[in-house]
Amino acid sequence: MIVVMSPNTSNEQVGRVVDQLNRNGVDSFIVPGLNRKTVEVFGDTNGLVRSVLQNFPMVESIRDGGDPILAVGRQPEDTTFEIPLGNAETIGGKKIALIAGPCAVESLDQVLEIAHAVKNAGAVALRGGAFKPRTSPYSFQGHGEPGLEMLARAREETGLAVITEVMRCDYVELVAKYADVLQVGSRNMHNTQLLAAVGEQEKPVLLKRGWGATLKEFLLAAEYIMLRGNPNVILCERGIRTYETYVRNTLALAVVPEVKRISRLPIIVDPSHGTGRSHLVAPMSNASIACGADGLIIEVHNRPQVAWTDADQALDRDQFTALAQGLQAFAGACNRTL
Ligand code: PEP
Ligand code: MN
Repeated sequence: MIVVMSPNTSNEQVGRVVDQLNRNGVDSFIVPGLNRKTVEVFGDTNGLVRSVLQNFPMVESIRDGGDPILAVGRQPEDTTFEIPLGNAETIGGKKIALIAGPCAVESLDQVLEIAHAVKNAGAVALRGGAFKPRTSPYSFQGHGEPGLEMLARAREETGLAVITEVMRCDYVELVAKYADVLQVGSRNMHNTQLLAAVGEQEKPVLLKRGWGATLKEFLLAAEYIMLRGNPNVILCERGIRTYETYVRNTLALAVVPEVKRISRLPIIVDPSHGTGRSHLVAPMSNASIACGADGLIIEVHNRPQVAWTDADQALDRDQFTALAQGLQAFAGACNRTL
């Protein structure tokens, strides 16, 4: 059962509803909203509490059953979130957010060179991994904190917001010290402890879809973050694993309009991991904008041929600049800006 409170109900008034539920031995959970709250009620088997609550001030309606995507869902209001990126930019409004940078931070020179190039091409944020979730333990695992320092230096020089991955609960504070947005990667989408940990700090979170996760599981992962008090979750479709082999992953773009229909969260697309092939990144970027994505996160390298990680999918600076220019027409056709 879900109790929907009227707009601008105070915390105290919500607390009275919860007290009443407690007195009746019924468990509940307060779901944060924008300007109204909902209370999810567990175990009111005989409907007793329902009849009491119906007469409570500020209780607008009581609904049966429950959609488990309460926090990320559009209900009870047709709202969307515009999420701050740390500089003057946001994701989720009319402007499409271009995020670009290397797969991994390799050196200060590399990250600075790429940061300036993507900034000139129109990017609003810099991506780059300092902690890398690698399939093989023999592969480069990232520079760790020195890599974070390099990203911070690139932010100082360019004004770009920094988006970087956190893989461990005990590193959340460290990564949040340097990053504007914390990334939870595909492999960690199911790590509920990490989701809770990033939900308990204030920086926005970029949540990538698990490569074996359904849309429902993806949204429930976002729910874990939001229920800990952090409403600023940006979803990212990055492809799922299928039997197909000509691409690294199969980019499931229908998720974008579906997320828009059922959720209030912004969603961006990662066509780099979503295809694994540099020649497919621009066409799939265009397609992402055409189907309603709020942004793109793209891997760009100053020398893709010798990139330490994910070389096959990296664009060079000119390719990224051309991609950004080509997007203008698609953005315009969708009544968006870049
Ligand atoms: C990344 O963006 O650096 C990354 C590792 O992507 P994913 O988690 O989608 O594989
Ligand atoms: Mn990568």
